[in-house]
Parts: sequence; C-alpha cells; structure tokens
Amino acid sequence: MALLAKAPKGTHDILPSEVRKWQYVEDTAMDLAEIYGFQEIRTPNFEDINLFVRSVGDTSDVVQKEMYEFEDKGGRHLALKPEGTAGAVRACLENGLLNETLPVRVCYNGRNYRYERPQSGRYREFNQFGVEMFGSAEPSADAEIIDLMNSILEHLQIDEYHLEINSIGCPQCRKAYHKALEEYYAAHKNELCKTCLDRLEKNPMRLLDCKEENCQKLAENAPKTLDYLCDECKSHFEKLQKYLDAMNIKYAVNPKIVRGLDYYTKTVFEFVCDKIGAQGTICGGGRYDGLVEQLGGKPTPAIGFAIGLERLIMLMESCNAEFPAPPECEIYIAAMGEKALDTAILLTHDLRKRTFFAQTDTVGRSVKAQMKYADKIGAKYTLVLGDEEIEKGSAILKNMATGETSEISIGQDFVDDFYDTLVRDEERDHRFGHDDDDDECDCGYCHHEH
Ligand code: ATP
Ligand code: MG
Repeated sequence: MALLAKAPKGTHDILPSEVRKWQYVEDTAMDLAEIYGFQEIRTPNFEDINLFVRSVGDTSDVVQKEMYEFEDKGGRHLALKPEGTAGAVRACLENGLLNETLPVRVCYNGRNYRYERPQSGRYREFNQFGVEMFGSAEPSADAEIIDLMNSILEHLQIDEYHLEINSIGCPQCRKAYHKALEEYYAAHKNELCKTCLDRLEKNPMRLLDCKEENCQKLAENAPKTLDYLCDECKSHFEKLQKYLDAMNIKYAVNPKIVRGLDYYTKTVFEFVCDKIGAQGTICGGGRYDGLVEQLGGKPTPAIGFAIGLERLIMLMESCNAEFPAPPECEIYIAAMGEKALDTAILLTHDLRKRTFFAQTDTVGRSVKAQMKYADKIGAKYTLVLGDEEIEKGSAILKNMATGETSEISIGQDFVDDFYDTLVRDEERDHRFGHDDDDDECDCGYCHHEH
C-alpha cells in the first residue's frame, strides 16, 4: 500500500525505541542547568519575523537563506523560530523578567527550523537545549556557562570533544577590525561568492563564517579579531581563560570562530567533536551584550549557549555512552475465559495504581498466545487465571527467569503479596550474584560476608 504522505524533507521522527535516550539527555541537561540556577522558559515556535531579522541579523545565513517565513490568515508576517535566544530575550522583556533581581537565568528545550540542505547532523527541524543568562557582564558568567556545558557532556559520559574559544570584541574594537577586514577583502573581491560580495559592504565579519569553499579559504588568512581587541575586551578574555584554567577546563583559543549570528560580542565558543563527521559542532554560544537593548530593553549584558540534541545523541552513540534501560514489565496476567479476564483486568488496574508495570490481554489472544506474548515483552512474572483459579481465589505465580512457581491469593492482598515476592526474589538474586562493590545496594546481601 502506498503511503499517503511521508515525513517532510529534513524532518525526522523520534520513535519510541529512541525516545528514552532523548528524555535522558534532556533531563540530564535540565537537571544540571537547575543546579546552576537556570529555570525553564517555554516560548512560541513562531514569532514576528522582525524579531529574528533584527537579532540574528539580515546578513546572516539564517535570515538570508534558512528562515521558514510565512504570512498567517490575519496577514501577520511570521517565522518559525530558527534559534532560541531571540524568543527568550523577547519573552523576558515582554514579561518584565529583567526588571527583577539580576542575573536572570533561563533555559529551554525546543524545536528549531532552518531551511538547510539536509545531511547527517543537519536537519530542517531540529532540537536544541539552550541557556541564557542576563545581567552579568563579568567573565565569571562566561566561565560559569562554559562550565555548565562541560558538565553536561561529562555527565553524559562524552569524552571525545574539545572546547574552542575566541573573543570577537565589542562594537568599540570592531570598528578597527571591520576596517581591516574591508581592506583585506578589497584585494580579493573577484574570489568571493555573490552573497559575500553583498555582505562585504554591510557586515564584513559575516564573510568569515561563509560555508563556500573559496570564501573559507580566504577567511584562513583574514585579519583576526584578537589582534583588534580593546583593553576592556582583552582583559575580559584573559580573565575568562584564568577561570577556565582554575576549573581545570581544557580549551584552545581559536581566532577563527566568529559564530553565524550577528548578536554576539566578546566571548564566543564552540564545543566540537571530530567523531561525527562534517557537522562536528555540537554546541555554540557566546556573549551578546547589545541584544537586549536592541530589542527594546534596558542595556543588559547577556550570555548563552545552545546544544544541538541530534548531534549530541549521535555523538553519545558513537562514544558508546550508556543510556538508561527501558522499564521492564513486572507481571503479565494471562486470562482464559470471560470471568478470568474480568479479574485480570481488575488486578492489573490495582497493580498499576500501586505503580507496578503490569499487563493483561487486550486483543483476545488464546492463553497460549498470551504466554508467548508475555515472553516476548520480557515479563518478569506471569499469572494464569482460569475458571478454576477464580473459584479457588488463588493462582500460580511464575518467575519467568528461574521457572520457580508459588501460589498467590488473588483476593484483596494480591498486590501486597506480589510486592513481597518481587522483593524476596530480588534479594535472592543479590545473594547468589552479590556484588561486593555495590555501595548503593541495601538488599542485606551485597557488601556482607557470606
Ligand atoms: P552550523 O555551523 O553547523 O550550521 P550553526 O552555527 O548554524 O551550526 P548555531 O546556530 O550556533 O549553529 O546552533 C547551535 C547548535 O545547534 C549547533 O552547534 C548544532 O549542534 C545545532 N544545529 C544548528 N543547526 C542545525 C541543524 N540544521 N540541524 C541540526 N542541528 C543543528
Ligand atoms: Mg548553520
């Protein structure tokens, strides 16, 4: 049968077998961000297009080529959000969050949209976890958020990455830098791509981030931002490095990083991994001291980062990082006949109320087929109910791993009795397979002389 429709190009489904990985990564990032003082914010998936044009910048690739823009039925010019910072700033301003005690720290986990050429690690709809910190101009804030990102990667057991940092200065030092860039590129005008020729007049720094091969080659020898920093920016960058050293966070200064979005000032950084192919940048971030004011707020320094979750999970897989195992079905109750099924449904309901992972038949299978199914889903225990069991008020509970059976009442005490069996069996597992190194286990056998 031909499918009526397929997933749009550049999108991907996250299937139940994969979704646990995502939840684990998202929860880890969110939990860590929380202990650094960040609180989650949720903003719309689409915004007034001007928000992005003004913040990301009208000469950036994102605005020039990648934006999903549309007019709604009310004639509003909107865009699906290509990144998270602009929306977070807008929401904080609109809701007065930045009038409260500073710094304000927010984090988010959201979907972004960019009309790009899909390839490994590059999608048209992708997920980012990001943090934004408002109101700290100090380099200690830069160090803090880099530390957070580092900590997320460590917790996820990723070790094959490196951190690259740079400073692209403030509007003050950028004047001289732009001049130097214009002079450098003036001699190479005929080697530039069409878009870059246009950018040269409006925003020469964008040329350094162009993905065209020729432009990238030219960028290699272009003047470096670090040589044009004012004293303030220089000292900020030096202090950041001092803090990173103190926290024992390894990094390299890469004067070629300028980042693709216009709002950055001073510190910019990337976490990069060579293991996942061409799309190796898993996280990008930096300071954006001018953006809040540019969007209509009071001058407020800010810094943030965003991690691409698709790339992060790809990287975890290639590092063989561990993901938590899915929950196991604790008991399958098979039923033969209508009466038995009534009881099975009730017992399953009672078990679930007490948070046991329990299943019973919902598709009218024969008992034999039900047992096969129980085996397939890896149920730890099974219980078979028929007329005879209902009459007696008890049934045989079977431990599927050991084959051991025991009689259990299917009356009021069933859930408690099942719990006791489960715990007893778990203890016995530890007794025979006890683990002297398991500090966590308090089963009464691990960690004890036998
Ligand atoms: P790239 O240079 O790879 O295009 P970028 O500089 O455009 O990245 P940012 O805007 O800084 O990326 O976004 C931060 C992170 O979001 C990236 O490091 C990456 O992990 C992820 N990301 C960006 N664009 C995509 C995409 N199209 N598909 C999947 N992940 C993406
Ligand atoms: Mg990009």
